[in-house]
Amino acid sequence: MATTLTAPTSLVSELRSRGVPDARADATSRAVYSSDASLYRVQPAAVVFPRHLDEVLTTLEVCRNRGIPFTPRGAGTSIAGNAIGSGVVIDFSRHLNRVLEFDVEARTAIVEPGAVHATLQKVALANGLRFGPDPSTHSRCTVGGMIGNNACGSRALAYGRTADNVTQLDVVTGSGARLHLGADGTPSTPETDALRSLVSAELGTIRTELGRFGRQVSGYSLEHLLPERGFDLRRMLVGSEGTLAVVLQAGVRLVADAPYKTLVVLGFENIGDAGDAVPAVLPFRPTACEGLDSRIVEVVRSRKGPQAVPELPGGAAWLFVEISGDDALEVADRAARVSRIDAARHSRIIGDIRQAAALWRIREDGGGLAGRSPAGVPAHAGWEDAAVPPETLGNYLRDFDNLLLTHSLTGFPFGHFGDGCVHVRLDFPFHREDGTAAFRAFLTDAAALVSRYGGSLSGEHGDGRAR
Ligand SMILES: Cc1cc2nc3c(=O)[nH]c(=O)nc-3n(C[C@H](O)[C@H](O)[C@H](O)COP(=O)(O)OP(=O)(O)OC[C@H]3O[C@@H](n4cnc5c(N)ncnc54)[C@H](O)[C@@H]3O)c2cc1C
Repeated sequence: MATTLTAPTSLVSELRSRGVPDARADATSRAVYSSDASLYRVQPAAVVFPRHLDEVLTTLEVCRNRGIPFTPRGAGTSIAGNAIGSGVVIDFSRHLNRVLEFDVEARTAIVEPGAVHATLQKVALANGLRFGPDPSTHSRCTVGGMIGNNACGSRALAYGRTADNVTQLDVVTGSGARLHLGADGTPSTPETDALRSLVSAELGTIRTELGRFGRQVSGYSLEHLLPERGFDLRRMLVGSEGTLAVVLQAGVRLVADAPYKTLVVLGFENIGDAGDAVPAVLPFRPTACEGLDSRIVEVVRSRKGPQAVPELPGGAAWLFVEISGDDALEVADRAARVSRIDAARHSRIIGDIRQAAALWRIREDGGGLAGRSPAGVPAHAGWEDAAVPPETLGNYLRDFDNLLLTHSLTGFPFGHFGDGCVHVRLDFPFHREDGTAAFRAFLTDAAALVSRYGGSLSGEHGDGRAR
């Protein structure tokens, strides 16, 4: 655990005297904010709940003057320790959580960073629109946190990652500069000029190493700063996890919510075969293509009863493929063609909306359901969202299963297979004395494996402390 960087009471007194009334350093607040949804625990020096942007700016100024780090925070659903820090945690979700503007014609909205995804989605859906990225935590995660992590979800396959859906950002950088980043480009400041120089000096590396496939979410997305992409700092900041700038306000793009949707479930003998089939599914332009296997389905059956799982086609692993569009006949035709792809041994088109919803619920609850191994041992995050280019997914999954055997670990891989992103919870032996050494050894080998496939340590949760 990191040590506290400053005497909390004097910090809080200064914040309060400078017009930030809800600044706290009591033991309860610091304990509550010492964790997010990750394995990590770091006690902050103080927690601030700003009611206005002025209070955010004052807090950041106090932190800069005192040399204290700060961590912006939304709902704290980060899994890699992204939303914890030893300095001041700024909770945007309590007060700065409104949808400020909504433009149906332009299909855009302006939100405060603490606006919950579901709040924005409710307004959007009432107008036949939706915010494209949809993390499983959509009922509580905030748009600021999604921007921090470049969050994705099942339908990012069709509608893009958060980085693809941000139209403007109002930010304050680490040195305190305010920037408005919109469609009209990036203003020239000493910091942005330095970034331009960095990119000019590293064009070859950035062009060949970064942005190679959609879910290369680890690290800073410097590819958005390439000259041919118009030095788009707005998109580059998405995924920087609050380490470069704090988002004060965001403009987001909304997309039309397709009126017709059909779920096609394809069955395979094993999870590797399901991965192999992804390249055959993608030409049908699915809005989602999610993979899971019988291990998760068995957990649902045993915990919730057989009625919780609608009839699935044969096989021991499945792809859930959502086909959507504006024309009912065209959607039905495309779904029928997906159900007949050679790569799938079995298939079923789910016409009943309730059955489709029940199946999606199994997929969405996957992270929670996988929280215990088949032997009933707790299974943890820590290596839970690596991604590889989708065309290599089948072989990666087979090698990953072998790696689990080598390390005597169990887990059920599932996730956004259309994007090559694999979720898993593993029964790391933290109860043993050598538990953290075993954790480190597995992570090192898993990182080597994913890099052999040209993949990314994180495909949507971000790097946080874990990566
Ligand atoms: C069970 C489970 C399932 C999940 N499923 C998915 C999934 O399907 N897809 C997916 O993409 N993710 C998923 N996640 C991860 C997580 O929910 C998302 O990344 C989510 O968008 C984080 O939002 P939040 O509001 O909780 O952000 P937080 O966790 O609070 O913060 C996220 C990051 O953003 C930064 N941040 C917050 N506010 C600001 C701001 N105003 N300015 C700058 N930076 C800021 C934080 O410092 C942090 O680095 C899942 C997590 C869990 C626990």
